[in-house]
Amino acid sequence: MSDADSPAPSTVASETDEEPVLAVENLRTTFYTDKETIRAVDGISFDIGPGETVGIVGESGSGKSVTARSIMGLVDAPGRVEDGSSIRFKGEELVGKSPEQWREIRGNGIAMVFQDPLSSLNPVYTVGNQIKEAVRLHRDKRGQEATDVAIELLEAVGIPDAARRLKEYPHQFSGGMRQRAMIAMALACDPELLICDEPTTALDVTIQAQILQLLKDLQEERDLSIMFITHDMGVIAQVADRVNVMYAGEIVESAPVVELFEDPRHPYTRGLLRSIPGRQQGERLETIEGDVPTPTEEPTYCRFAPRCPKAFEDCEAVHPVSVPVESGATDHTAACLLYPEDRSREEAVELHRSRGTDADADTTADAEDDQ
Ligand code: ADP
Ligand code: MG
Repeated sequence: MSDADSPAPSTVASETDEEPVLAVENLRTTFYTDKETIRAVDGISFDIGPGETVGIVGESGSGKSVTARSIMGLVDAPGRVEDGSSIRFKGEELVGKSPEQWREIRGNGIAMVFQDPLSSLNPVYTVGNQIKEAVRLHRDKRGQEATDVAIELLEAVGIPDAARRLKEYPHQFSGGMRQRAMIAMALACDPELLICDEPTTALDVTIQAQILQLLKDLQEERDLSIMFITHDMGVIAQVADRVNVMYAGEIVESAPVVELFEDPRHPYTRGLLRSIPGRQQGERLETIEGDVPTPTEEPTYCRFAPRCPKAFEDCEAVHPVSVPVESGATDHTAACLLYPEDRSREEAVELHRSRGTDADADTTADAEDDQ
């Protein structure tokens, strides 16, 4: 048997041998609505190492936010994280925790920054009140002590004249300043993992660049691990160490950022990269036609096939699983029947078919190559 057939380790090793801060394995989150069953996140696996920034990128509707909410324990009915899913934070399994236990985790290790700070800041309280409340909850400090920490946090996120600005209301802050304030609130619990869900999408390019730089600085100072969600490949290029490309609830490609940009393999990733303005000078901007389908049935085929320029007959009949892009590649995987690229078409398809029938078929790298 060649190496691509051998049992693979459950997750891709991060750059170091340290235990990952977050290990997601076979995560499935489903919404049971009156009309249909939406398999919003459908069996994804990835790791985030200490101090690492892992990007999740994909078009709107691909399941990025549901992934984030699942990790935060914020999926409510009619949604549920399915049995067999695993989310381990510093080795501790989070799936199956009670709402109280989740709250504890959110206060003590994982924090999240959302796209729209106005929807998370309360307009009737001052920014200071809200940050102090977070400080009271997470650091058990009150009064002047809480105020001092709040000022420290605002200064840490680059808000000048922090003591005065604490007394202002959210509407008195610009968009960029509001996002900084949200980041300050997220830092109140001194998280090890920060989940950022399109934190700069509502901001103009200059402010976006400042916020991305701020996140980088904070990461270095605090040794934060970051999960960074965006639909924007240009932003991913600036922030991520490693990138997972999502499509219709699945991760279709995963690679270190430089490799993903220099040598993208999945036809969807190639399409996304071609749609970045300015990447192909002088050429017409290419985009992928069509929309992300809502995943309502178990995948027995490739969900991207209807939009894929490379699709062939088997793509309608075999569900692609994540495999090394060529035999021996340990750090670059694609869920596409074209891979491993050094196999014959028939062999590759057979590999996907046989792995797909195995319940834990989401695995990625070659075990033998790691030894
Ligand atoms: P993204 O963040 O990548 O744009 P989402 O994670 O928000 O996408 O959504 C993924 C899929 O899950 C979509 O089809 C969306 O309609 C569905 N979904 C998300 N939240 C709910 C909900 N509360 N009820 C029903 N469906 C939902
Ligand atoms: Mg989203």
